[in-house]
Amino acid sequence: MTKTVDFSRFSSIKIGPIQEVLVLDTQMALPKDYVIIGGANNLLVSPTPPPLAMLSKTFDFIHIKDSMLHIGGATPSGKILSFAKKHDIAGFELMQKLPGTLGGMVAMNAGLKEWEVFNHLIAIRTENGWITKEAIRYGYRFAAIEGVVYEAVFQCTKGFDASLLAMFKTMRNNQPQLPSAGSCFKNPTGHFAGKLIEEVGFKGKRIGNMAFSEQHANFLVNLGGGTFKEAIELITTAKEAVFKRFGIMLEEEIIVL
Ligand SMILES: Cc1cc2nc3c(=O)[nH]c(=O)nc-3n(C[C@H](O)[C@H](O)[C@H](O)COP(=O)(O)OP(=O)(O)OC[C@H]3O[C@@H](n4cnc5c(N)ncnc54)[C@H](O)[C@@H]3O)c2cc1C
Repeated sequence: MTKTVDFSRFSSIKIGPIQEVLVLDTQMALPKDYVIIGGANNLLVSPTPPPLAMLSKTFDFIHIKDSMLHIGGATPSGKILSFAKKHDIAGFELMQKLPGTLGGMVAMNAGLKEWEVFNHLIAIRTENGWITKEAIRYGYRFAAIEGVVYEAVFQCTKGFDASLLAMFKTMRNNQPQLPSAGSCFKNPTGHFAGKLIEEVGFKGKRIGNMAFSEQHANFLVNLGGGTFKEAIELITTAKEAVFKRFGIMLEEEIIVL
């Protein structure tokens, strides 16, 4: 089964073509060359992306079994946060205003500062079966996962911390409201990408209808009708400017497809 997806509407940055996307309804290996996507909150989709696949609603579930939290790969962050709140489970507070599906959040090891999705993870289920966290190489905004995350299990520790929600809210206060894909670049060790971009004069820099936000320089925002080409031009020129000035090669956090 396929689904027609208009990435200029579906993706959080509001860029991309209308594309047929393969919908995975059962646990299977991706056909050759296919790329799995989640909610497209971290994607910059080109006019000619590789063949894409997404999980069906079958994988949108969350329940407690044997004192562990089982979450399907297609489950949205908001649903996970509500469940954790309702059942007083710790470790999912970071999902407040962190848009994504469980699969995308695991693949990116999404997080805020020291709060990361991998912190409470026990194992994931891919087409190759269950893989424990210990067997996965992961780090800051990175997890070496081969295959599709169909499900993950997490520790079910009591103690949802509402005070963390207030803190995360404050931390997000300076995030732009315009369409974006979150942080454009990863923070290089010992530096902040936003600060480096600002120091080379790219804060607020606009090409066509894309810009590095005036509010937060590491957010590449769509001012309305921005294009893939404009986004790539900003990314490339910012990387060049930062490298020229500081000798630091910024690495994209955004996944370009
Ligand atoms: C306003 C805003 C704020 C944000 N704030 C944060 C933040 O604070 N911290 C943070 O870390 N991120 C943040 N992001 C980025 C985004 O929320 C995360 O990267 C999130 O994990 C993306 O999930 P997704 O389902 O949309 O994945 P997608 O964007 O669709 O995909 C992201 C990656 O995950 C892979 N993937 C998706 N689903 C699966 C699957 N089932 N199995 C295997 N791989 C899969 C894709 O191939 C791709 O490489 C923000 C984004 C926005 C728009």
